[in-house]
Amino acid sequence: KNVKKYYPADSGLFGNKKKWIKAVDGINMDINPGETIGLVGESGSGKSTMGRVLVGLEKPTVGEVTFQGIGIENYKKKDLGKEMQMIFQDPYSSLNPRMTTANIIAEPLVLHDIGTKKERKKRVDELLERVGLSSSHGKRYPSEFSGGQRQRLGIARALALEPKLIVCDEPVSALDVSIQAQILNLLKDIQKDMSLSYLFIAHGIQAVKYISDKIAVMYLGKVVEFANKEDLFKQPYHPYTKSLLSAVPKPDPELRDRERIILKGDIPSPANPPSGCSFHTRCPKVMDKCKGSEPTLEYVSNKSMVSCYLYEEVNEVKESS
Ligand code: SF4
Ligand code: MG
Repeated sequence: KNVKKYYPADSGLFGNKKKWIKAVDGINMDINPGETIGLVGESGSGKSTMGRVLVGLEKPTVGEVTFQGIGIENYKKKDLGKEMQMIFQDPYSSLNPRMTTANIIAEPLVLHDIGTKKERKKRVDELLERVGLSSSHGKRYPSEFSGGQRQRLGIARALALEPKLIVCDEPVSALDVSIQAQILNLLKDIQKDMSLSYLFIAHGIQAVKYISDKIAVMYLGKVVEFANKEDLFKQPYHPYTKSLLSAVPKPDPELRDRERIILKGDIPSPANPPSGCSFHTRCPKVMDKCKGSEPTLEYVSNKSMVSCYLYEEVNEVKESS
């Protein structure tokens, strides 16, 4: 609810004035059991920070995160780890190179004091098989595995404590396209078996298309459009969402006839966001009023929530009728 995460900026950059980097700037979101929310946006839009706040790795500056109706600050760190896990783009950096994969996967069980040695071994074998590896892989070290296999190990370790939510932070971005599909299918299968929820983070909108039920598009710390996946692809509203969709390299048949919007320049620094609508410096549809005050996230149809002045009249018509 209204989650904000601000970091103090290097004050040298701004003289004596205290400045904040607004990594996440007022996000509201619900994730239901068994559901996948895709979170997309360029790097620097605050997606990873949002994921880290969600699993309790970072405290929000403002707002609150509740899990099963209870504020996560009321959970013990250890208990929260049983409920929520995170997987990363580069699992290698989080896999201890000196430990066998069996020990890596067993580590959360050991830390939580779950099972006897024998029971843990059995569980590790099951987990290896669940992610498409075999128990014989348990004796090997992370360096002996390919990128896709390491991601499988990362997933096995994340599943060890049977969490209910996994934040997947760009888990397939570094993998070959053919391997990406395998990992996405694996995540989908596991979700069905365990009724898991995912927050699935990616910078490309195509990457979240396959796996998501709903998609949130983020720009400079804010969600600018939120809709069911089908609705978002059928009818995107926000100019930024449209640009993300038209940047898909091999045009999706669904998107072929759509107007192409190529954005100029890079995403501005979150330490110094533009006034008004923070997208106005790059928006092909910018109007005078966009530079003044900030639009809020509102329903434009019954289905999509969008933060953009282009649709203001649509709302006013709806309200007066
Ligand atoms: Fe573009 Fe204005 Fe809409 Fe922002 S509010 S996305 S600048 S048209
Ligand atoms: Mg990131």
